[in-house]
Amino acid sequence: MHIENEVKLDFKDVLIRPKRSTLSSRSNVDLTRPFTLRNSRVEYSGIPIIAANMDTTGTFKMAEALEKHGLSVALHKHYQPEEYISFFNGLKRKSAAFYSMGITAADMEKFSFVMEKAPDAIQYLCIDVANGYTEIFVDFVSKIREKFPHIAIMAGNVVTGDMTEELILAGADIVKVGIGPGSVCTTRKMTGVGYPQLSAIIECADAAHGLGGLICADGGCTTPGDIAKAFGGGADFVMLGGMLAGHTESGGETIEKDGKIYRAFYGMSSKSAMDKYSGGVAKYRAAEGKTVLLEDRGPVEHAVQDILGGVRSACTYVGARRLKELTKRTTFVRVTQQLNEVFGKS
Ligand code: 5GP
Repeated sequence: MHIENEVKLDFKDVLIRPKRSTLSSRSNVDLTRPFTLRNSRVEYSGIPIIAANMDTTGTFKMAEALEKHGLSVALHKHYQPEEYISFFNGLKRKSAAFYSMGITAADMEKFSFVMEKAPDAIQYLCIDVANGYTEIFVDFVSKIREKFPHIAIMAGNVVTGDMTEELILAGADIVKVGIGPGSVCTTRKMTGVGYPQLSAIIECADAAHGLGGLICADGGCTTPGDIAKAFGGGADFVMLGGMLAGHTESGGETIEKDGKIYRAFYGMSSKSAMDKYSGGVAKYRAAEGKTVLLEDRGPVEHAVQDILGGVRSACTYVGARRLKELTKRTTFVRVTQQLNEVFGKS
């Protein structure tokens, strides 16, 4: 047994210290980032915020809505092959959508089929497993890299520098970082495993950037301020589930209660998801996600405006004219209090 005594941080433990700057208005801030990806050499350009590949955030409708603002969506993996083919063939900006897959034989078969039918339409792939620490996962990433040298690969999830490096060397362009911070995730409760998300971002970004790779901070953002902290900590991309859930574009079943409309939002390892796709929770495992009902939040457009406005404003507070400069200009101060909630939590 070993104890690491160094303090590890979450978004709630810090604030960003303001800095003197010459920037006059947040409208001058450029949030788009160009990247040449390390292994695929794909040229990405966009606002590096991605809707999570969950049932009710990784939808075609969400992709259409976010595309207009330069953001992206990692599509969930439960559409039919024909649906992907027609969606990707009609996509204007290729980085607007990632095709997502797990590492089972069925996932591979489906992906190969879609790639065969739409060979040039898909340029971005998200290989997603709950635990990115297994040899079989690393081997899978290498295999896909070998087979598809020019596809941008985002792979995860991990939370430490050693595994970030291993995945980049195996062929990933972007490593997805986060174990346990998600809004509907119960991994920490069920297993005791996890890593404070801001420290995971800082450490994995450092490891990835050393090799010319990138990271995507996945999970735990509850406010635009958290997204700014993730970018400030070194994240190249940020993935959002809960913040984009419950909107018109989320799809899914709605429930009417006391004259209000609610939308279900659930973890992809929750009982709800396993009942829907795998005929229930298998005997050898426990659900590691939960289900919540969110009051309908209307079109996602409002959430996007809030997010982009918040991150732009964070940039002006530290004098970052472009999102790229935010990390360099970020100093985190550790705090014991974030918000004044005397008049409630909103
Ligand atoms: P959020 O932005 O909602 O805090 O986090 C979204 C992320 O939570 C997803 O991108 C994914 O990595 C993670 N996630 C989604 N469903 C589950 C689940 O059922 N269990 C766990 N452990 N994580 C999940």
